[in-house]
Amino acid sequence: MQNFDVVVIGAGPGGYVAAIRCAQLGLSTACVESWLNEEGKPALGGTCLNVGCIPSKALLDSSHHFAHMKHEAIEHGITVTGVSIDVNRMITRKAKIVSMLTQGIAGLFRKNKVEWLQGHGRLLSANQIEITPLANAGTEKTIVSAKHIIIATGSVPAKIPPAHVDQDLIVDSTGALCFNQVPRTLGIIGAGVIGLELGSVWKRLGSEVVILEALEDFLAPVDRQIANEAWKTLQKQGLDIRLGAKVTGTGSNNQQVIVTYQDKEGKHQFNVDKLIVCVGRKPNTEGLGADECGLILDERGFIEVDEHCRTNLPNVYAIGDVVRGPMLAHKASEEGVAVAERIAGRTGHMNYAAIPWVIYTWPEIAWVGMTEQELKDAGINYRCGVFPFAASGRARAMGETGGGMVKILGDAKTDRILGVHVIGPNASELIAEAVLAMEFDGSTEDIARTIHAHPTLAEAMHEAALAVDGRPVHI
Ligand code: FAD
Ligand code: NAD
Repeated sequence: MQNFDVVVIGAGPGGYVAAIRCAQLGLSTACVESWLNEEGKPALGGTCLNVGCIPSKALLDSSHHFAHMKHEAIEHGITVTGVSIDVNRMITRKAKIVSMLTQGIAGLFRKNKVEWLQGHGRLLSANQIEITPLANAGTEKTIVSAKHIIIATGSVPAKIPPAHVDQDLIVDSTGALCFNQVPRTLGIIGAGVIGLELGSVWKRLGSEVVILEALEDFLAPVDRQIANEAWKTLQKQGLDIRLGAKVTGTGSNNQQVIVTYQDKEGKHQFNVDKLIVCVGRKPNTEGLGADECGLILDERGFIEVDEHCRTNLPNVYAIGDVVRGPMLAHKASEEGVAVAERIAGRTGHMNYAAIPWVIYTWPEIAWVGMTEQELKDAGINYRCGVFPFAASGRARAMGETGGGMVKILGDAKTDRILGVHVIGPNASELIAEAVLAMEFDGSTEDIARTIHAHPTLAEAMHEAALAVDGRPVHI
């Protein structure tokens, strides 16, 4: 039987990063991974690299270029005629990016001497794992032992009974990343992160998109002012988002999906060429052996952990989507690093109050910390500064006249930054400054005193910080 200091189960951004860091810290490390890619070959990288963050951003970028050339280049005096989309080429480009990056992780494993164990891992006890080989790789199970185990088995799409995913007419996010043509009409269930990102991709390429959202509030977790701005902009782009819509059933007719739903006005029905179901994700503990070895899950199926990602079993940790907290790749990776450091006897650091969120629509939406409603609900006195991109010279020069803003919330007494919310061009990059400021326990005055290059979009962050104190210059 092989023995390791650490065995990681799952090689998504949580697991592969944890494994690499463990190995860097001198621990003998193996990582068990059961993923098979589209060609049926074993692959590392998990949801994020194979069917999540990376492929979705590749398609968002391709479709952004297309929409820009079609609708916006003219504003710059550029006449582009005959713009068309070759969907197969776009999908092939995405597949190449995925393949290059997942192979890159295999290279990092070799470089750091992480042993990649291909197969499905099942806990036998707090220090033994049984590995079932992948399809076509034999049938003989092996058992490995480990002084420490890190579970990073991620999440899978949630299902709803009225819309059974067949990956043909009704697809989940994975299916929606590989359509071989632009659906003329596209239905989406769930106006969350995936619904808006993938809805944007196919809308830009020409689909008529209807999104059904069960809640009455649009983007419920987002700051209301930002969500309202996003609502206006996405409506203008032609996304038909229907709130308070409960899907009651689906059927098919002539290669189309018939969708029925109910809202406060009554029952409705429409037909679409494709339907994407993206109503959230659920923790993946299937076949992990949790029950048999007494690993405690919470009532929603997440592995229960303390603030240091320790499970109830000695020396068994769990990280990423399979535990509480936001389902984000960077959260999973940081937990992985923190756990590796702790196993190696060092101090692991994980600041749950400063995890950035980004929704990669255009304009992008990004935030960190608390929303204005959360501050009100918690009875915290705050000051607020807002700066609109309409007043940013750089945004104007870029042709980014679609609205948007930076909003900063600071403690009324201490001026400590409590939340930063951005909707606008490159919000995904702009938010990094706010996260760093919060990581350093910074004040809005710290950002206000920081010299920002001109002309940049980041000046909007500077002006919003000045606005907290009622002294913005350019509005
Ligand atoms: P995963 O990435 O899910 O990896 C878990 C791995 O464990 C998988 O490879 C699985 O095969 C393996 N596994 C599971 N069980 C076993 C077992 N018993 N034995 C062996 N192997 C096992 N997040 C962002 O931060 N930014 C984004 O832009 C973003 N975009 C996304 C877009 C889409 C369409 C989707 C679906 C998700 C997106 N996410 C994004 C979320 C992100 O992908 C996840 O938060 C992240 O992948 C979680 O990492 P993880 O390591 O916890 O799990
Ligand atoms: P989500 O939680 O973001 O959105 C799901 C939406 O579906 C919610 O608004 C919910 O109210 C709605 N919904 C639930 N049941 C419904 C029903 N029966 N009918 C209609 N609407 C319904 O989940 P998601 O979009 O599936 O994404 C899953 C997770 O993946 C995200 O929460 C996020 O953690 C991660 N992700 C992150 C990014 C990013 O960071 N840019 C991108 C994609 C996914």
